[in-house]
Amino acid sequence: MNEFELIRHYFAAARCAQGGVGVVRGIGDDCALLAVPAGEQLAVSTDTLVAGVHFPDACDAFLLGQRALAVSASDLAAMGATPLAFTLALTLPSASEAWLAEFARGLQQMAENCSLALVGGDTTRGPLSLTLTVFGRVPAGQALLRSGAQAGDLLCVGGELGDAAGALPLVLAQRDATPEVAEPLLARYWSPQPQLALGQALRGRATAALDISDGLLADCGHIASASQVALHIELARVPLSAPLRAFAGEEQAKVCALGGGDDYRLAFTLPPALLADIQRDWPEVRVIGRVLAGSGVQLLDAAGQPIEPPRGGYQHF
Ligand code: ADP
Ligand code: MG
Repeated sequence: MNEFELIRHYFAAARCAQGGVGVVRGIGDDCALLAVPAGEQLAVSTDTLVAGVHFPDACDAFLLGQRALAVSASDLAAMGATPLAFTLALTLPSASEAWLAEFARGLQQMAENCSLALVGGDTTRGPLSLTLTVFGRVPAGQALLRSGAQAGDLLCVGGELGDAAGALPLVLAQRDATPEVAEPLLARYWSPQPQLALGQALRGRATAALDISDGLLADCGHIASASQVALHIELARVPLSAPLRAFAGEEQAKVCALGGGDDYRLAFTLPPALLADIQRDWPEVRVIGRVLAGSGVQLLDAAGQPIEPPRGGYQHF
């Protein structure tokens, strides 16, 4: 199969490449053409995943296809953007048809899940790596930025944290667990669900937002510095899942939630009066702290006293 047959068979023929809202031209010309309605802006984000760095060299191609697109789509969620389209630059050591078929199936599943149309890309030979660029649209001036948090706002997260980081010993086949524990953790690593609907609902409500990819504390640091405020996080309020607690233990679960990364859940700041409205539709949204005048991120114990982040018993990263 030559390069063009490969592109045609696995990508141009995929269901997600058959156009979509806003797609004027998809795969096949020198550029794709996207239409953005008057009064809206284009939100664009690129992520590269390199084998051996961002995912294990030997991994399931279907799961990799899902995860690669989910990671990118999560940036659209973080901006409150409505998904439009994506491109895929694929570097492959060889054109294994079985691998490509499974990869394309995983990509298709997540594309459908996120309403993203595949509109172009590039295919080259080399060490396995993937670069995905996602495009979304957002009403002009309404994108969720990192820079608007105000003293008095609540600090919220879109759900339980730490599962993906906690799953790493399972992903790397360093440890085993029963299916009841392993399956939900592995699912949170391999097919995170970008919080697109939540992000769109936060437009005009949240004062700042991002998606947690590098760990709660590090990412909250980005909001604090962009907004020139201090964020106080109550450790006891950080939501941890039952499977993570069972697998990693209470202390290590906290380490995963605070510093692990790969959560792809939203963290956002919200005026207190708007919380009930959001939690009615997203009961998994949790308040974990608040915004104050000052700078930096401070972790607090249940009595409100400053504490150091707990340290891990083993090193993931
Ligand atoms: P060019 O040489 O003009 O860059 P290519 O031959 O690389 O074009 O690609 C031909 C068409 O196939 C283009 O529309 C391109 O966007 C698309 N394409 C190439 N690789 C991929 C891929 N992995 N996934 C989706 N579309 C792709
Ligand atoms: Mg090209």
